[in-house]
Amino acid sequence: MDVAQTTDKVTRELRGAVMLITVDHPPVNALGAEVRRGLLAAIEAADQDPAVHAVLIVGAGSHFIGGADIREFGKTRTPPALPEVCDRIEACRKPVIAAIHGAALGGGLEVALAAHYRLAVDGAKLGLPEVQLGLMPGAGGTQRTPRLIGVVPALDIALTGRHVGAAEALALGLVDRLGESGDTLAEGLAYAQALLASHAAPRRSRDAQGLADVAAVKAALAAARADTAKKSRGLFSPMKIIDAVEAGLDHGFDQGMKTERALFLECIDSPQRAGLIHAFFAEREVSKTPELAAAKPRKIAHVGVVGGGTMGAGIAIAVLDAGLPVTMIERDTPSLERGRQNIEKVYDSLVARGRMTPDAKAATLARWNGSTQYEALASVDLVIEAVFEEMAVKHGVFAELDRVCKPGAVLATNTSYLDIDEIAARTSRPADVIGLHFFSPANVMKLLEVVVPAQVSADVVATAFALAKTLRKTAVRAGVCDGFIGNRILGVYKTAADHLMADGASPYQIDKALRDFGYPMGPYQVSDLAGGDIGWATRKRRAATRDPRARYVQIADRLCERGWFGQKTGRGFYLYPDGARTGTPDPEVETIVDAERARAGIAPRTFTDAEIVRRYLAAMINEGANVLHERIALRPLDIDVTFLYGYGFPRYRGGPMHYADTVGLAKVLADIREFAADDPLFWRPSPLLVDLVERDATFASLNQSFQSK
Ligand code: NAD
Repeated sequence: MDVAQTTDKVTRELRGAVMLITVDHPPVNALGAEVRRGLLAAIEAADQDPAVHAVLIVGAGSHFIGGADIREFGKTRTPPALPEVCDRIEACRKPVIAAIHGAALGGGLEVALAAHYRLAVDGAKLGLPEVQLGLMPGAGGTQRTPRLIGVVPALDIALTGRHVGAAEALALGLVDRLGESGDTLAEGLAYAQALLASHAAPRRSRDAQGLADVAAVKAALAAARADTAKKSRGLFSPMKIIDAVEAGLDHGFDQGMKTERALFLECIDSPQRAGLIHAFFAEREVSKTPELAAAKPRKIAHVGVVGGGTMGAGIAIAVLDAGLPVTMIERDTPSLERGRQNIEKVYDSLVARGRMTPDAKAATLARWNGSTQYEALASVDLVIEAVFEEMAVKHGVFAELDRVCKPGAVLATNTSYLDIDEIAARTSRPADVIGLHFFSPANVMKLLEVVVPAQVSADVVATAFALAKTLRKTAVRAGVCDGFIGNRILGVYKTAADHLMADGASPYQIDKALRDFGYPMGPYQVSDLAGGDIGWATRKRRAATRDPRARYVQIADRLCERGWFGQKTGRGFYLYPDGARTGTPDPEVETIVDAERARAGIAPRTFTDAEIVRRYLAAMINEGANVLHERIALRPLDIDVTFLYGYGFPRYRGGPMHYADTVGLAKVLADIREFAADDPLFWRPSPLLVDLVERDATFASLNQSFQSK
């Protein structure tokens, strides 16, 4: 047996007449420079060696090839480039087979597409997920995929980044054969032998005929452009993917490859790529906290929920969907019945839309039980309180939980603003009390703020993160303060928007400016969707503690006094005639805004959209810096993830703190100082921001990793 190390990370070995090339670069065989070099050398050697009649490429460990090494992006590129490697594989004069198990994603799939024959075993995941990182396939993915399987499925795969399983890959023609036994190597070798026995020749994807019907392909490209303009508004790379496919159609494979490469490099250099990759890494880091490094989670097999309103029902659904049983407590039988109905309504609608079978609904609801007696919670491992946002009510509930719950049970509150240290201190077991701040609708929204009070034990924090994982939520660690990370910062930038509105910008211009920045909705559309009454109640509650010197804009109060709470009442900042879900601007609101400006003695001025964005973001970033300074968030990336997952911040901008770095902190601080000339009380530069600017440092420099146990 001839075993030659082409590099540390790619080995070749002659198996009869078949050269076995194994990529061995744990954990996912990513295509770093050494792997690319090794693959190139191995295919070159196989092509030259007369003893070799066929080539089999496999991955060692759990995957074929997971993709590019994304840590190389933005750095100097070391040759050989992947397109060169793929072209060499495709040009090989002997049949090349890729045998795929685990992930064949991005560059990994492109290597497989450059092979002449493909086999996949059960559990294989094929895909071109580059688009999710602001990128596009850069090693022939936009050229070989449509030729091989047709333009419509190829664009679907490249524009969504979704994973395709082995069976679907076979149906699409992305692979030629399934390896039934699951033993990738044995299946791959058997396939190679079969091909040799039938004298199969190299069969190159570049020559496949998927683009032959030019008129049909043109129509599909036009449709994809229209769809992408709607669905991927503001995103750079999806249109480039379509451009690359079109270039290959118009000018042939080789020119298509050149265009693809040029567009790929444009994507690499785009700020969107940096933002999306920051988001990708931030999402992985966010679940690593100091507590997780110190402790192991408690076991959670049964969850209690107190309150069956908007949040309690949503939380119960999230827990039921994760396969755990839920015991719900309500204050009386009719409220409990309503709580049960709130849950059932959601499942009924899934069944009506064909997204759930009646049997699955019945099985899920069988895990739910309810009671008006707290004793029913005696055996739960964790309980989440979601009753009215009033301290006295919360105290009453926690006294009951303290009385009935078993030792070691985690007692969590879903409060939005209240002081969890105070809630914990009133129990006999403050080490077990934590905040689990879900977002509405709790069964849909990905974000979970884990609010860590002073006395809580590390294993309870670890338990909260483990629960988040079970519920498929993204958990962010927050400290105790009014509004924690998200709502506290929201309160400040929403105030900045209100100041803009009072000073001359219409709510419609503000919403549009922020949509153009990349938000799915502007703040006044969000307010109409959530219900203006919710913010109104909070403002009334806070009226007594508001700084009397602080500017207070009353426009929203004027609307609420008229009962205009938004979508649910048919009008708010916008009009929603006949139950419409998209609002239209309301001249009467503009009259009210004018009247409020006059009453406050404001001479309205105009703002450009860019000025609106500048003020809104400066307020967000400055309060973000305060939240960091007070250690409410431990790292800037915790704030970024909070806003990406809970507040609609455009993912391609990476989150507010990442965005601040891209603008330049000195520029942000200069803006804040400029705005402070008119309102020094509101625009107070955060000490942390000032410090970073003085040190010429970035928020990114404050991101750190905590190792998990
Ligand atoms: P809700 O009014 O819809 O529901 C509250 C439920 O609690 C009601 O069904 C009520 O009957 C029940 N309840 C009241 N007192 C009780 C008691 N002593 N024992 C048992 N049940 C009792 O309110 P919601 O919107 O679901 O909010 C609940 C909590 O979640 C609040 O703390 C709120 O701040 C927080 N929260 C709300 C949102 C949101 O968007 N609505 C988001 C995050 C957090």
